Amino acid sequence: MAEICCEEAKSAPASASAVTALARRRPRVELGVPGAATPAGNEEGGETRGGKRRRVSCAAPAGRSCQRPRLAARFGSMLWWPRYGVTSVCGLRREMEDAVSIRPDFLRGSGGGGKHHFFGVFDGHGCSHVARMCQDRMHELIADEYTKAGGSGKEGASATAAEPKWKEAMERGFARMDGEAASWAATRSGKDDDLACRCVRQKPARCDHAGSTAVVTVVGPTSVVVASAGDSRAVLSRGGVAIPLSVDHKPDRPDELERIQAAGGRVIFWDGARVLGVLAMSRAIGDGYLKPFVTAEPEVTVTERTDEDECLILASDGLWDVVSNEMACEVVRACFRSNGPPPPAGARPDSGVLPAPAAAAAAAGREEERGAAAAVKGVDRAESDRACSEAALLLVKLALARRSSDNVSVVVVDLRRVS
Ligand SMILES: [Zn+2]
Repeated sequence: MAEICCEEAKSAPASASAVTALARRRPRVELGVPGAATPAGNEEGGETRGGKRRRVSCAAPAGRSCQRPRLAARFGSMLWWPRYGVTSVCGLRREMEDAVSIRPDFLRGSGGGGKHHFFGVFDGHGCSHVARMCQDRMHELIADEYTKAGGSGKEGASATAAEPKWKEAMERGFARMDGEAASWAATRSGKDDDLACRCVRQKPARCDHAGSTAVVTVVGPTSVVVASAGDSRAVLSRGGVAIPLSVDHKPDRPDELERIQAAGGRVIFWDGARVLGVLAMSRAIGDGYLKPFVTAEPEVTVTERTDEDECLILASDGLWDVVSNEMACEVVRACFRSNGPPPPAGARPDSGVLPAPAAAAAAAGREEERGAAAAVKGVDRAESDRACSEAALLLVKLALARRSSDNVSVVVVDLRRVS
C-alpha cells in the first residue's frame, strides 16, 4: 500500500531546511486509493458534501486587481516548458472524487506550440463521473473554443489584447462541458460500462445528482488565465505575497446569494450555507437538478505575468479548508529555496517525477493502486519538475496533518523567470 507522510506537520515549515526535513520524514498515513477503502455495497445515494469543514481563511479580492506587468514583451516569443508538480490523494474520504488534468502545450494544433499550458483541478461531488469527464475533455473544449474565438496561440506582447478571447473561450468551454455532463446523465442505461459509476448503481439512478468544481488555468508566456466554477481555488505568489486568482463560489457569498434568490432559489443553512439546503457551492459543472440556481458559468481572470511571480497553486478545498493562501505560498517558496534556482529558460526539465500516488503505484506495480494514477491525467514524467513536485506533496501532507477530511489535490507551477 502506498503511503504518504503527515506526521507532526502541525504548522507550516518556517524554512527551507524545515521543508526538507518534512519531506524526508517517514511515511505514516495510508494513502487513500480510490475504491480500496470503500466497503462493498456501501455506496449511498444522494450524498453531497456532508461534514465538509469550512474554515477558509482568505477573503481577499480576486486577481482582477493584480498590478500591471513591468516586463512581459521579451517573453512573448519564447518557447518554454512549464515546471510543475502535482499530488492528488483520497485522504480520509471513502471515495476519490478529485481529478487533475495537466496538458502541456495544449494549443499545439493552433500554431502556439510550446507556449500555452493547461492545468485543471476538478473536485467532484455526488459521484466522480463529472470530474472525470472534465479531466478528459475540458482542455479540448477550451482549445476548440479559443480557436473559434480567433485565438491563434501566438500571444503578443500584451495579454490584454487576448483577454476577450480567453474569456469567451472559457465561458463557452465550461458551457459545453456542462452540456456534455447533462447529456451523459440523460442517456445512462445501466449498461456494463456504466456500472463502475456509483450514481448508476443507485435505485433509482441519479446521474444528474452529481457535479464537479472546475478551476482551470492556461499559463502562457505573458499571462495566466484562470477560470473557476465552485470552491477549488487558484493562488498566485508574487513578490512574497499570496494573490487569489479565483474567488470561491459559496452560496452565502453576497453576490451569489442575490443571484440565486433572483432566480427563485433559496440558500438554506444546514451544516453551512447550501443551495436548496443541498449543495455547499453555488457554481459547478453538472448538478442538473439544481439548475438554474447552480450555474456552470465561470468567473475568468487574466493576469499578466511579471518578473516578481514565483508560483501558481491550484488546489481543491481539501487543501484550502485547512491551509491559508499565505501559508501555501510560503511552503512552495521554501521548497524553491531548498532546491536552488530553476534550470535555464526554455530547457525541458530532465529531472521529472511522477505525481506521488502514480509514482507509488508504478513502483509497487500493484493492480489495486492503478486508480491512484488515474486521478491525474496528462502528466509526462519528463516535463514535471522536482521542486514543484516536492512542494505539491508537502502541501498535501500538511493538509492531511491538519486533519483535512476531504480528497486533496494540489498542482504547483513554477513561474519564476530565468535568464
Ligand atoms: Zn456517476
